[in-house]
Amino acid sequence: MFWKRNPGSIKSPGAGGEKDLFFRLKREITPIRPQGDLPLRDQGSFSRYTCELCTTPAPLAELKQCVLCGRWACSSCWTQEYYVCNACNGVLRLHLLK
Ligand SMILES: [Zn+2]
Ligand SMILES: [Zn+2]
Repeated sequence: MFWKRNPGSIKSPGAGGEKDLFFRLKREITPIRPQGDLPLRDQGSFSRYTCELCTTPAPLAELKQCVLCGRWACSSCWTQEYYVCNACNGVLRLHLLK
């Protein structure tokens, strides 16, 4: 419904660029799994899950789901700055350089 639209989204000087970048990345990166889906379980344990980048087992509390590709990443595969995994961060940085 158009009246529910944030008035700021029509014209927001300065803040538009980053949002636009996010949408461009969303188009470019194919999600591996939907948001809210659980990570892969570690074969050797029932209480641990696997980082989908380096395949290191970790408890769910230590894994974060990437907002772009949907993969679960451990702390060493995670870019806190943009809330994405390191793989998507690589793509993101390419866009930032342009
Ligand atoms: Zn990892
Ligand atoms: Zn990602």
